[in-house]
Amino acid sequence: MTRPALRSLDDALPWLLAQARVLTATQQVSTFEADGRVLAQAVISALQVPPQDNSSMDGYAVRAADCAQPGAVLRVTQRIPAGTYGTPLNQGEAGRIFTGAPIPPGADAVVMQEDCEALGSDQVKVTQAVPLGQWIRRSGEDVTRGATVLTQGTRLTPAELGLAASIGLAHLTVAPRPRVALFSTGDELVMPGAVAPEAMAPGAIYNSNRFFLRAMLQRLGCEVTDLGIVPDQREATVAALRNAAAQHDLILTSGGVSVGEEDHIKPAVEALGELNLWQLAIKPGKPFAYGKVNREAQGSACHFMGLPGNPVSSFVTFLLLVRPFVLALQGATQTQVARTEMTAHFDWPRADKRREFLRVKRNAQGGLDLFPNQSSGVLTSAAWGDGVVDNPAGQTIAKGDTVRFVSFAEWLA
Ligand code: AMP
Ligand code: MG
Repeated sequence: MTRPALRSLDDALPWLLAQARVLTATQQVSTFEADGRVLAQAVISALQVPPQDNSSMDGYAVRAADCAQPGAVLRVTQRIPAGTYGTPLNQGEAGRIFTGAPIPPGADAVVMQEDCEALGSDQVKVTQAVPLGQWIRRSGEDVTRGATVLTQGTRLTPAELGLAASIGLAHLTVAPRPRVALFSTGDELVMPGAVAPEAMAPGAIYNSNRFFLRAMLQRLGCEVTDLGIVPDQREATVAALRNAAAQHDLILTSGGVSVGEEDHIKPAVEALGELNLWQLAIKPGKPFAYGKVNREAQGSACHFMGLPGNPVSSFVTFLLLVRPFVLALQGATQTQVARTEMTAHFDWPRADKRREFLRVKRNAQGGLDLFPNQSSGVLTSAAWGDGVVDNPAGQTIAKGDTVRFVSFAEWLA
């Protein structure tokens, strides 16, 4: 019997993102609290930034024509600290001015104090010739009135919070946080803290996936309900899925989606809704599943994503598939992370039928080193590495080859 070809990531991902209808109930949040949230509305400026022409130096506001030659002596007639507004400046006059203070009417240049000599308290000698417009920051050079400062779908970062604040916005309209129910399957799993390492029963392992999955969901703006560990039983799995569907936008599970007899996730999702995707041509991460769990009482359905149990498979499929999906639920315009071309400082002589994601680290020579053990169970590879090589199916790599690199820092930001 020939098995059907696995679905490719390039084929599955656009389809998956098309399933993610943007959550509609927008929220107003304090600009202080908006880091990492996705703008549900464009931000348009009602004012110019800076509001007036102002000085970019501590020094003297002058009329450039008065200082065409070095050595001009001017009368100091006013003092303009930041936060105040000066009076008109006449010919032959200078105004003592400080960084950020508005340029007084009549002045058209600033001389920095290092280029001046004070002569007593009310006169200044300008030692250099002064070009028109020198050291003036123009009104609107940062933001003009009516400009779209941030577009809808922007995932906010600290610089953007500052920019929003600079146009006076104390609140921003953002997409709601996706409500995600997270649970692990596996009778072998034990929570750290529940049993000491020396007391672990034979066959037991600690639940590691739950820790990085929860952290990654939270970084992506999700509200996580941690439903703990669900036993490897059909009824328990069905019950957990059914209950979670009612109150969440997405159910995310790890483990139990392979082909073993103890893998109950797939039949449970099929019993409660539909399984639309199962198995992708990627390594690690082949058993990835997507489906919908019906909310019986509400006549709607909750998204379901099932990640493989092997920690590295879980980690990588989260970044490849769950991350863009939860960003799409928030209406983010940017859901993908760029690949950078880099040089392999390693050999990978065995081509795989599946597209591979190899854990690597940038070295001091500007190339990539490979973690020696690429097993999907070895989580050290993800902690040691600072990204992956996205290696096409059927491709070997020789030292010196150009490969596509994706950095964890960018992916996890
Ligand atoms: P499964 O996908 O359930 O067949 O699990 C594949 C492998 O991943 C098995 O060796 C499991 O013990 C391991 N595994 C499953 N879930 C977790 C988890 N939450 N944390 C660490 N290892 C896990
Ligand atoms: Mg299992």
